[in-house]
Amino acid sequence: MQAKSTLLIATHNRGKVREYARLLADLPLLLTWLDEVGVTAVADETEATFLANALGKAHFYARQTGLLTWADDSGLEVAALGGRPGVLSARYGGEGMSDADRYNLLLRELEGVSDRSARFCCAVAVVSPAGQSWSAEGTLEGTILPAPRGSQGFGYDPVFWVPAQGRSLAELPVDLKNQISHRAAAVAAIRPQLERLCRGEG
Ligand code: IMP
Repeated sequence: MQAKSTLLIATHNRGKVREYARLLADLPLLLTWLDEVGVTAVADETEATFLANALGKAHFYARQTGLLTWADDSGLEVAALGGRPGVLSARYGGEGMSDADRYNLLLRELEGVSDRSARFCCAVAVVSPAGQSWSAEGTLEGTILPAPRGSQGFGYDPVFWVPAQGRSLAELPVDLKNQISHRAAAVAAIRPQLERLCRGEG
């Protein structure tokens, strides 16, 4: 039987660990995460792109732990706002805001705006203990609703309409969201490289 490599999912967010564990379940990888390996340091997310943030985090935690490390960065890009909130999605409007505060702020910014097109983006990066890196990106296209709909999910899900599903992201069952999400698309894009790594092909 093939020996399993350990892959550190570099997040403190247990929900993210579960989602990636499900998406990578068929690969011969032993998944661990920051809280399990006792890493409390928090990497900066100060770059201008999702990809640069994901790569920066993966390098940071690979150096800290000596493990093969997976990191991501994601967010919402709204066309009429020139791509904002983008890499600042989690901090849009400042500290101390709830998810609802943030999407309500977004709705106010878009009042009277006819171009509602938007997309979720996710970049994932894998860095080896020797510092070699691989990365990929995934997107989910949609539009911003005039008012929130649905109660599933998190973040901007209630105001994100998915035309292909005829529902907001917060109206989709979580399993279905996880199949079509920007994270699922990024995982699908990096999967061939991970499979090569699992076979020891680098
Ligand atoms: P991070 O990748 O965990 O830093 O997430 C950045 C932010 O983007 C989150 O805090 C959310 O506000 C937003 N975001 C990322 N993915 C999603 C999603 O699937 N649904 C809703 N909001 C999301």
